[in-house]
Amino acid sequence: MYRFHKAKTHKARCEVTGKVRYRDMHEATHALTVASHMRVEHELAGIESRREEKRPYECEHCEGVHLSSKADTIEDRCIPVAS
Ligand SMILES: [Zn+2]
Repeated sequence: MYRFHKAKTHKARCEVTGKVRYRDMHEATHALTVASHMRVEHELAGIESRREEKRPYECEHCEGVHLSSKADTIEDRCIPVAS
């Protein structure tokens, strides 16, 4: 008897960019909202946050959605990492 393995229907990360993968724009936008709320809480607590504002973009490799910051210009173009 083989042990039953859970089918991975949803990958948490993109194999090409290594970024967190969201199913669609809606999910990515929600994550963005949560992140911005956390940043406000950190600022209220006196914790400096260097996190840039991010925006969602569709990935051509995994057909998911990733979040990109201004500094993420390389990943923004979703260039595959040579292996
Ligand atoms: Zn991807």
